[in-house]
Amino acid sequence: MEEQQRELDERELADNQLHFKQVIWKSILLALIPAGIHVGHLLIAPEAFKVYWPYTLVVLIVGSIASCYVLVAKNRCPICNKGFGRYIPTQRSPNCPGCGSKIV
Ligand SMILES: [Zn+2]
Repeated sequence: MEEQQRELDERELADNQLHFKQVIWKSILLALIPAGIHVGHLLIAPEAFKVYWPYTLVVLIVGSIASCYVLVAKNRCPICNKGFGRYIPTQRSPNCPGCGSKIV
């Protein structure tokens, strides 16, 4: 695919801003909520934790995988489709590192 810079209009930029905000929140919450459940369970009910920890650990692992999936599948440049990895474009750094287009 040809990698070239493209100007996005206001509406596309606004859509992208919303999209990448959702990527940030989903990846954080999917990682943090299961971790909170796992650790919170240990702190609140250590006796029950001895029995139920494998279940909360599974939730933790599934959440981490889902978090990585969001970053890999959704955190991409809408123009050149390059994956960003841990980099998430925001209004402070609005350009794609791949094609250089302003995307948010
Ligand atoms: Zn790009």
